Amino acid sequence: KLVVLGSINADHVLAVPHFVKPGETLAGNGYHIAYGGKGANQAVAAARLGTQTDFIACIGDDTLGTAMKNAFAQDGINTDSIVTIPNEMSGIAMIQVAASGENSIVLAAGANAYLDQTVVDKFADNIAQADALLMQLETPLSGITAAAKIAKANGTQVILNPAPAQSLPDELLAQLDMITPNETEAEILTGIRVTDQDSAQQAANVFHQKGIATVLITLGAKGVFVSEKSGFNRIIAGFRVQAVDTTAAGDTFNGALLTALLEQKSLVQAIRFAHGAAALSVTRHGAQPSIPTREQTDSFLLA
Ligand code: ADP
Repeated sequence: KLVVLGSINADHVLAVPHFVKPGETLAGNGYHIAYGGKGANQAVAAARLGTQTDFIACIGDDTLGTAMKNAFAQDGINTDSIVTIPNEMSGIAMIQVAASGENSIVLAAGANAYLDQTVVDKFADNIAQADALLMQLETPLSGITAAAKIAKANGTQVILNPAPAQSLPDELLAQLDMITPNETEAEILTGIRVTDQDSAQQAANVFHQKGIATVLITLGAKGVFVSEKSGFNRIIAGFRVQAVDTTAAGDTFNGALLTALLEQKSLVQAIRFAHGAAALSVTRHGAQPSIPTREQTDSFLLA
């Protein structure tokens, strides 16, 4: 069983000719709400791909929160560990998508800001009984660190996707079995700019020195650099696809990676599976709407 701990956001998306300027009133079109949040995206990816998934998260006591929780249950996620915070809103993102294809995003954490140690302690048994715990950085560090310690003490593998980028205390890094930064996050966490395989290895070595056995630096369309403390290292290329929207590519990659690892696939085979699922997600728009099912991923990989 997998436990995902992290954020839930409702993305309010509007297409605009250009980003709105100070004092300007601009007409947009194509308004819609898409479900997102890094934690939710990773839980949805794992569940759609067939993993038994508990999701520790917080929603507000609003209709959006209820709708998202229902959607997670539809995707097969165990929602018993989603806590409703009274008198608080669910997390939201206001997203302008310019004609150029660029995004401009404003976040309001809402209920996500309540996912601290107190909430985590309620679900200590879920974490202790899981095979793996997958987290990101859109919820408070106190909760993330508490969960990592419970996992570590109970033999649950701890995987952190350190997004959005921020520097982290050694106390947390020391609890991790695996870290999956992209190039930007790797640079912020290690101080080493990742531009090629040599610099990727240097960045990975910083993580190894902090006690993390497995480092996966995702390289967008170029794939992933994998480094194990034991010495194994290489770049594993992704799939070439027509990308229309890379939102949730990293989240799909992480959810899919854990799915494959929990099925006892080798790390290299798990990365190939994750590349397939993430490649499919970039051919589609939105966060959770873009995440493929197991059937779609398996047939993509066979083609
Ligand atoms: P993030 O979305 O967290 O910034 P990356 O951009 O590094 O992460 O992408 C994560 C993974 O998603 C990659 O390792 C790859 O599997 C897949 N991916 C991302 N962009 C593309 C692309 N343009 N074409 C194919 N696969 C992609």
